[in-house]
Amino acid sequence: MGSHKHHMELMDSVAELAIEAGILEKCEIHEVIFQNGGDITDAYKLANSKYSKGETYGFNSRGELTDAIKEVMESSDYAGDCCERCYENMG
Ligand SMILES: [Zn+2]
Repeated sequence: MGSHKHHMELMDSVAELAIEAGILEKCEIHEVIFQNGGDITDAYKLANSKYSKGETYGFNSRGELTDAIKEVMESSDYAGDCCERCYENMG
């Protein structure tokens, strides 16, 4: 057990990683996170290189980190392909 982060916090960190990898985007105005059609393997590669440098994002293994990336990409929270609120404002 111990002091593991909450699942939601982990998912937020993983979403940030996915944004850095260029497979998710975040609307600067509304902070809505959405998919941009990028390749998930880019995020896996970035995660691996970060993990090798000691950035574990609170996970105990590389496998857990890459599983979490997959979970984030399959999550309905980040399933949009644009910022819905910007889209509405475009009228
Ligand atoms: Zn927006």
